[in-house]
Amino acid sequence: MPAKDEFTVTPYEVKGRIDYARLRELFGTEDLTAALLDRLRAAADRPLPPSLERGVYYSHRDLGLILDAHAKGRPFFVYSGRGPSGPLHTSHLLAFELCKWFQDAFGAEMWIQITDDEKVWAKTDLPRSETYRWGLENLADLLALGFDPKKTHVFFDTRSIAAMYPLAVDVARKIPYSTVKAVFGFPPSTNVGLVFYTALQTVPCFYPSWVAGKDVPCLIPCGIDQDPHFRVTRDLAERLGYPKPALLHSQMMPGLLGQDRVMSTTGEQKDNALFLSDPPKEVERKLKKAFTGGRATVEEQRRLGATPEICSVWALWKTKFAPEKAEFDQITGDCRSGALLCGDCKGMLIERVNGEFARHRAAREAAKAWMESTIVEHPPHGMDVRKAGAETPNRPVDS
Ligand code: SF4
Repeated sequence: MPAKDEFTVTPYEVKGRIDYARLRELFGTEDLTAALLDRLRAAADRPLPPSLERGVYYSHRDLGLILDAHAKGRPFFVYSGRGPSGPLHTSHLLAFELCKWFQDAFGAEMWIQITDDEKVWAKTDLPRSETYRWGLENLADLLALGFDPKKTHVFFDTRSIAAMYPLAVDVARKIPYSTVKAVFGFPPSTNVGLVFYTALQTVPCFYPSWVAGKDVPCLIPCGIDQDPHFRVTRDLAERLGYPKPALLHSQMMPGLLGQDRVMSTTGEQKDNALFLSDPPKEVERKLKKAFTGGRATVEEQRRLGATPEICSVWALWKTKFAPEKAEFDQITGDCRSGALLCGDCKGMLIERVNGEFARHRAAREAAKAWMESTIVEHPPHGMDVRKAGAETPNRPVDS
């Protein structure tokens, strides 16, 4: 295990300079190899998105099984969630942008979970009315990425409990308290809501299989900090008669103020993140003070070049704002050679971000018109909710 003060990565805390290779070993996940990415590219029959090509996603569990299912003509779905405690920043979009790519490339159904309950339990100073309000705001931002309204379904926890609860009951009875305590390190003061929440976060992974009465594999792109949640889910899957969800793990996005701090929604760290709601002047202010890999003087930078790998501006180009390979390679090369200075680089990025944010704001207003239609409040009409995965008579389980 890493020394106590080296780095910490749990679903509730990320701090320190993370050694990602070591974290993958500690979590026992698989390397996202070039061969597997080749297979994915071929199956999708299109280029991979930058987050996959550029190593932002670097680890997985069972992606090969998803591709096996696809090769046999079996559909899979993608799932991601959001705990709404404030506005979204750019790194919140990372998993959803990849889900959108899977929806476009494979026609995958998308399930989004808005965990307004979990945020009340985890942040006990936040009233439920606020997490609900942020849930709707965040959902509009997520749908604005361009998801297909007909293939996108939302569990908004405090509204969707009638649909989720039968499965949550099945799941919760299989999770000993000792497991939750060991995996998440909950102290005795933890409220029982947070303990139960593990069952609720598991429901979307199984729901499509439960409703269909047959296996529908699930793929979850997420930050690697969320892996512990889904380790519990994967352990439960077989016992409940559902396929284990596959995972794609991303590295954590560095904050604007440096690599040691990830982007945050709250507290004094707000200057560390670019929020989708930031007006142009605020984007400019934040990016002008962002941490870079530049040199102390212009002369030094021209002579020695800069270091993109430690630069928060470069991280934004890499993950979102320079999707074209030629442009990204040019920025990276010019940064290294000293041909590009940090002030000019930031100026280009400010313009790009403000253009993207303006487009996003228009798209989110349009998404509000159909947002309500995506929220699932009940199981399908006529479904026998008494049945559970492994207990469904004659339930076909694909090999
Ligand atoms: S030139 Fe751009 S990418 Fe390179 S260190 Fe400066 S701000 Fe970062």
